[in-house]
Amino acid sequence: MDIKHQHFLVTAIPAQGHINPTLQLAKNLARAGAQVTFATTVYGLSRIKNPPASNGLSFASFSDGYDDEKSMKNRDFACFLSDVKCFGSKDLTKLIQASSNEGRPVTFAIYTILLPWVAELASEMNVPSAFLVIQCATSFALYHRYFNSHDGIYDGVREVDYSSISIKLPDLSLFQKEDLPTFFFPNDPLFPSAVPSFHEHFKILEQESTACVLVNTFNELEEASIKAVDGMNLIPIGPLIPSAFCDGYDSSDKSVGGNLFDIPENDYLQWLDSKPESSVVYASFGSLLSLKKEEKMEILHGLKEAGRSYLLVLRADNEQEEEVKAVVENISSEEGMIVPWCSQMEVLCHRSIGCFLTHCGWNSTLESIVAGVPIVGCPHFSSHFSDQTTNAKLIEEVWGIGVRAKANEEGVVERAEIRRCLDTVMGGGEKGEEMRKNVGKWRGMAMEAVKENGSSYNNFMNFLQNLE
Ligand code: UDP
Repeated sequence: MDIKHQHFLVTAIPAQGHINPTLQLAKNLARAGAQVTFATTVYGLSRIKNPPASNGLSFASFSDGYDDEKSMKNRDFACFLSDVKCFGSKDLTKLIQASSNEGRPVTFAIYTILLPWVAELASEMNVPSAFLVIQCATSFALYHRYFNSHDGIYDGVREVDYSSISIKLPDLSLFQKEDLPTFFFPNDPLFPSAVPSFHEHFKILEQESTACVLVNTFNELEEASIKAVDGMNLIPIGPLIPSAFCDGYDSSDKSVGGNLFDIPENDYLQWLDSKPESSVVYASFGSLLSLKKEEKMEILHGLKEAGRSYLLVLRADNEQEEEVKAVVENISSEEGMIVPWCSQMEVLCHRSIGCFLTHCGWNSTLESIVAGVPIVGCPHFSSHFSDQTTNAKLIEEVWGIGVRAKANEEGVVERAEIRRCLDTVMGGGEKGEEMRKNVGKWRGMAMEAVKENGSSYNNFMNFLQNLE
């Protein structure tokens, strides 16, 4: 079918880390000439600031049962998953029917994690679908080893000895318990809701002999993990990052998806302009995580003691305790700047940034690679559904682009450890030099992958050409 007759329905839940890569894929599809409807929840859509205007791209929403103010974060996660399925499937069915009645039928559906029912609904309406993995291919390969119905670790019935779980993927060193997604283990609060949801999803993927799995990564970065998943067609099409940062061909395309948060005026970019090259630490812990008071205090003191300028994101949707506010108020503009949110890609690509102190969310990790910035990873800062531990292992051991900070027994990374890690990465020693070289090398490969005839570009084009 001619690409201009393809109509993609692209769906994601309204978390920034889901919206950003998914909306970027929607923009890429529209740029290739297709019609695209990007759909998220009613509340999520109402919060997207400046949805990107693009020919062929339109927006729609589906209910998750709380359309006015209650977001995903204010609701029990299991409850959210069942509500979004119950209300969302009715709305998306209506949307697909209405599109047909208007003479622009949906020809293909793309959905992200936590929305496996979109595949079933699409199949019932004779619409083919693909799953977009917004985490790394290695996480997906680990999920596959955990959930697949042939020899997976979990089948919902058998007793599992969680104390001894480790996973070996070909050509990668062993993934020990501390490197595996945290929700694999029953002591994680998300275990009771996330595990059945993933289990159900793998059953759906296995039922389709031609299940198509698009992944926000590039082949050169994760070749071993991509090959490790038998029986599914994994198609790396990333990094899904605005083109202005990848190849510069559309310099207006700088919005990282649609922001769910207000971005303050550009004074942080001016502040960065005043700093020497590679001298500033950018510290940010994603869009979902609520840092505990002790964590914030250790970060603030660790950054101060490291003696380097820093730009720190403390999100406005997290309440700041009095003790934290007192420290923040005493920070001089020479020392550091605190913002409630920023345009992360623009910051990472600023010449003054020398290191990213991050929770290792997959988008943040890929964005750091694209910007060529080495990483200090603090994956223990998460109580969220976590691929961050897996990403931290890859960052340190496989790609050699950063260090993983060690947390204390309470899971808090202490100030001395933050300082030690920042010194290792930015201190001018051999290790830091090696990491900068490595991240530069991966950055080059990321750029090549999305250029015309690059691996991800070709994969994306083949995917489109193979559609009926
Ligand atoms: N982000 C941003 N500004 C900020 C903090 C984060 O634009 O101040 C974006 C960041 O660029 C990334 C996303 O929010 O695309 C966070 O996704 P990630 O997977 O790193 O973490 P999550 O929020 O899912 O934990």
